[in-house]
Amino acid sequence: MPELIISISGMRGIIGENLHPEIAARYGAAFGTFLKAGGKNGPVCIGRDSRPSGPMLASALASGIMSVGLDVVDLGIVTTPTVGILVRHLDCAGGVVVTASHNPIEYNGIKLLLDNGIAPPKPLAEQIRSMYLEGKSGPVSSIDCGTCTPAEDPDTIHIDKVLSIVDVESISACNFKVVLDSVNGAGGRPGVRLLQSLGCQIVQVNTEPSGLFAHTPEPTAENLRDLCTQVTQARAHIGFAQDPDADRLAIVDETGRYIGEEYTLGLAARLVYMERKGTAAANLSTSRMIDDIASQSGGKVIRTPVGEANVAQAMIENHCVIGGEGNGGVIDLRIGPVRDSLVAMAMVLQLMARTGKPVGVLADEIGGYDMHKSKFSADPQQARRIIDKAKMVFSKAKIDESDGCRFDLPDGWIHLRTSNTEPVMRSIIETRRPEITQRYRDAVDQIRNEIG
Ligand code: MG
Repeated sequence: MPELIISISGMRGIIGENLHPEIAARYGAAFGTFLKAGGKNGPVCIGRDSRPSGPMLASALASGIMSVGLDVVDLGIVTTPTVGILVRHLDCAGGVVVTASHNPIEYNGIKLLLDNGIAPPKPLAEQIRSMYLEGKSGPVSSIDCGTCTPAEDPDTIHIDKVLSIVDVESISACNFKVVLDSVNGAGGRPGVRLLQSLGCQIVQVNTEPSGLFAHTPEPTAENLRDLCTQVTQARAHIGFAQDPDADRLAIVDETGRYIGEEYTLGLAARLVYMERKGTAAANLSTSRMIDDIASQSGGKVIRTPVGEANVAQAMIENHCVIGGEGNGGVIDLRIGPVRDSLVAMAMVLQLMARTGKPVGVLADEIGGYDMHKSKFSADPQQARRIIDKAKMVFSKAKIDESDGCRFDLPDGWIHLRTSNTEPVMRSIIETRRPEITQRYRDAVDQIRNEIG
């Protein structure tokens, strides 16, 4: 039986195998105890994606949190960014999202947020983890138990915030036809409402939040072939695909071409830099396109270790105007410190309205990048040796070692990093031309073979 993964961003496991309600209740109690120890006595809001196991896990979590004397606000089925927004809106001590993001239906997970809407930084996450493992919780007596109250229409608060940063009239005037595939996740209901508010004609695909995912949920090219066809058949301007908790967005252009998740942040950045000046933040594995877009407006990009919390923290510290991750995750702090597919959809439509150009043309204007991602097994020792060897091979590169090792070269970059949860190393290579990418791929392969 695979082991339950408890990482810094929470826990993820397989329902009925290693993730049970007792675990969720204990985890909830540990999180509540941690919050109280930090002097936070406000309520904790809990949202979940649409998985059928969601109500069971969310109730167990709520029980654990109430058992230590904190109140719970039940957000029901909402997107992950909605929880990040509601934590702050409702002045909560913290938030919990019950989701396994893009993982298949048999999985579920628990993601914790602090009162600022961001996942706990590593030292605090470690503290919560040990409190859970040691069974440390502070149960209260009968009259001091917390209560659980449903929230009224959390989607509206989220949608209104997104609408406030775009020009609703100019987008509505374009009467865009949009195909939205929400893979039966949490994003369908608010996604449709947002697009309606933006005057779009919507072709709804898998927008019912049943949790019975109509296709493999990760919004990659191979999982979105049907969406590409639907965009062409509907003669739509654009196709949007969300992952089950709707923090990621992939885009299909007007010709039915999957343009890839890296472009989501690129297109959003293009809009932001047409309107504002300032700094951006992205993780080390994200395409250079955001650097090019920012530098054209005199802005720069701060690179962070991989992980949404790292990007969000850097954005807050540096007052960034845009940030995110190359997996289709766009963050705008005016909305919340969480990757948000609703923000991304609104920004891309705004860019199309503002420029009068189809999304495929806008992507090509940014484009000219070739990216290759791969992963291979490597234990921590092998990973270290691979990085040491790569430093010798790419000795002329600018090196960033804040998360694995990123090598910046004049004609591209290579990022080698280990996974936090499995003995796996990831290699991300981006250059301007496929033949250069291939050359770097061969170089990495050779290093791997030498290390063995
Ligand atoms: Mg997700």
